[in-house]
This record gives sequence, structure tokens and C-alpha cells, in this order.
Amino acid sequence: MNKERLTVYLHSLEPESSDLIQEMEEYARQNYVPIIRKETASLLKTLVSMTRPQKILEVGTAIGYSALRMSENLESGAEITTIEKNEKRIQLARENFSRAGKESCITLLEGDAAEVLKTLAGPYDFIFMDAAKGQYIHFLPEVYRLLAAGGVMVTDNVLQDDTILESRYAVTRRDRTIHSRMREYLYELKHNKDWQTSIVPIGDGVAISVKH
Ligand code: SAH
Ligand code: MG
Repeated sequence: MNKERLTVYLHSLEPESSDLIQEMEEYARQNYVPIIRKETASLLKTLVSMTRPQKILEVGTAIGYSALRMSENLESGAEITTIEKNEKRIQLARENFSRAGKESCITLLEGDAAEVLKTLAGPYDFIFMDAAKGQYIHFLPEVYRLLAAGGVMVTDNVLQDDTILESRYAVTRRDRTIHSRMREYLYELKHNKDWQTSIVPIGDGVAISVKH
């Protein structure tokens, strides 16, 4: 199957989003902000509608795009907590949350997730992992603690532009550590009895995990 043609077709099916969302997509494209792809946004929104979480945790806000997309399908009273460490992006995300009128349901926590996660109490019904790919395996114990039993965790970019398929030696030295850690992370999610995981090759690869 030709993945590019499929992606073009899937994008063409997406309904038009708000002006703000389109503006954010354009900003991200021009400034190389790695926001979720359109089909990933659609999958996330479907999962949010399916699981109807009251409390969502996101690791990696960037400019607030995925948080705003998830917020489109929130039940009333539901809240999103999202973590970001980059100053510039924090500022833009706050502006975007305010422009969308979503400040009351989205809380941005500033700092390194490695530290911030430890300070949270949970439980969260839904967690979206979309920060530094090499750190997922280190965040896993904290994220497991924070997720409610039966809760859903979605992890983005698990196939890393398909380099995950390559042997360790075929990827550049710079990417090698991330490559092995991502493989370790996927192995853990697939083999640890605490999790039920399915890896979906949509967008840049998404892992959907349920905590037992
Ligand atoms: N979820 C966003 C995209 C996130 S891009 C969207 O789809 O709209 C990944 C973000 O994670 C970057 O902005 C980066 O600054 C942030 N990040 C990476 N490592 C982090 C860490 N350890 N703690 C907090 N934020 C981190
Ligand atoms: Mg991502």
C-alpha cells in the first residue's frame, strides 16, 4: 500500500478546522514545531470521545495544538493538565489557550516532565505522551503510577519515520540511543502484564495502551 497516497486521502476526509487551529498548523509548519499530524489528531479525538475522561494529562504541550484538539471533545467539567519546558512554546501555548477560550479547562505546568511528573497526584483517566522520545522509558514508572486502572495512555511517534524498523547499526549514531530506548519502551508496553498495548501505524506511529 502506498502510504503517502493513503495519507493524502485521509487528510482530504478531515473536516475543516477552526481558523485558530489552521493558523497553529501553519505556524508549526513554518517553525518546525512537531505537532501531531491530522490523522493522529482525529484518532486522539476519537479515543477521547470513546473513553470520556474527566482528567487528561499530556506530556509535551509545544504550542498547545494537541491539547486544543483533545479539548474539542471533552465532556463538561473535564480538565487537561499539560507539561512543557520550552519558554517560547509555553508563552505561545498560553496565548493559544486564551484565544480558544480554554484557559479554564487546560492547565499548563512549566518545567521538565522528569521533575513535574513526580509532583502530581493523579489519577488521570487518559495520558498523552508526546515529549522527548528517548525519555518515554524513563517516564514510564511515574506515568503508570498516575494513570487510573483501566485508563488509556496514547504515545506518539513510536515508529519514528519508520526508522524503528532499521537495525540499530543502520541509524546514525545521534539517533541510536533514542532508537534503542524506543524499542525498549515498545517491548515493555507489549510484554509487561500491567499493560495491554496496540501499536497503530497512523501518522508517525501511535501506541495505544490500557493499564490493567
Ligand atoms: N503535543 C504537541 C507536540 C509536542 S512536541 C502537539 O502535538 O501539539 C514535543 C514537546 O515536548 C516540545 O515542545 C518539547 O519542548 C517538549 N519536551 C521535550 N522533553 C520534555 C521534558 N522532559 N519536559 C517537558 N517538555 C518536554
Ligand atoms: Mg508527536
